[in-house]
Amino acid sequence: MTDRIALVGKTIAELEELMTDLDQPSFRVKQLFNWIYNQKVAQVTEMKNLPKELRNKLQQVAKIEEFTVLNRQVSEDGTEKYLFKLADGEKIETVYLPNQDGRKSLCISSQVGCAMGCNFCATGLQGLSRNLTAGEIVNQILMLERLKEERISNVVLMGMGEPLANYAQVLKAIRLINHEAGLNIGSRKITLSTCGLAPEIKQLADEELQLTLAISLHAPTDQLRSQMMPINQRYPLKDLLAACDYYIKQTGRRVSFEYALVEGVNDSQDLARKLATLLSGVLAHVNLIPINPVQEFEYNKPHRKAIKMFKEQLEMKNIPVTVRVERGADIDAACGQLKAKED
Ligand code: SAH
Ligand code: SF4
Repeated sequence: MTDRIALVGKTIAELEELMTDLDQPSFRVKQLFNWIYNQKVAQVTEMKNLPKELRNKLQQVAKIEEFTVLNRQVSEDGTEKYLFKLADGEKIETVYLPNQDGRKSLCISSQVGCAMGCNFCATGLQGLSRNLTAGEIVNQILMLERLKEERISNVVLMGMGEPLANYAQVLKAIRLINHEAGLNIGSRKITLSTCGLAPEIKQLADEELQLTLAISLHAPTDQLRSQMMPINQRYPLKDLLAACDYYIKQTGRRVSFEYALVEGVNDSQDLARKLATLLSGVLAHVNLIPINPVQEFEYNKPHRKAIKMFKEQLEMKNIPVTVRVERGADIDAACGQLKAKED
């Protein structure tokens, strides 16, 4: 039974192959795709318009895998954090963020852990265990839609892991999430956040998707950024900004730059001016995120006044900027706090 085919994660083309192998007419493919990604059934046996014989056959060779919910925490602001156990026992976290305006966003993971080692991030501390499959990436949405009996409207790839370090599976997942006959979440409603893998950013620019790209920038000089984010040694700011320019040129989309403000590290007026200079002329939006506490690190958020002054420096140079209201910090569900532990 263990090697039954996982249906979640299969593309139309892959389901076509499966149906051919089972001597089925091609119109079954659409029905199957609809049951998996649109009706989101948890059992093959629930696929009512498939003949009984086919359902029995499918039951033998294929499965719809549900994650085990190991823990669910609810924040006072309505954010919910789920700890899921995968088929091989690995654990990931997924964060549900209902908005006041009716949007239901889901922050999903792309890897178990992360190899990038940014020195302010809880996920980085645990290192990389493995990549998620496209099926496991999509399944986070299917699980939540079943559990909440709601449609997810927006997806952010900002959970555990570096999505562009798992490029093929992440892209496959995005196309499935995007598919009209399935979850049908438009690519403009999908945000991908990366620590800055320049070659993959360029590759993404050529995928003809209208994704929102978010870059974890966090520092405007190579010296400081390399201290905070080891990836900067491989792809320094010049390469990163060139890749972003290419992304903007190919997609016409504004790029979001994430800047986690850490007291005494990257929050000075001088660095704010350097950031403004770095981004001048770029179709950019800056998201300032007062750093979220992570037990193992001694970082502090800057005082409110310092945040305001940093923001004003950017505004003076006409850089669009917002301060992100952090959600779910009381349950360690905010950016950089995910680490897939039960405690
Ligand atoms: N690996 C990707 C996506 C996951 S991290 C990336 O780095 O972009 C999601 C976001 O949380 C990133 O912008 C990351 O820089 C930010 N982040 C990490 N640790 C944080 C912390 N302690 N406080 C605030 N943001 C943090
Ligand atoms: Fe990985 Fe992103 Fe955390 Fe850096 S910030 S360690 S890239 S998850």
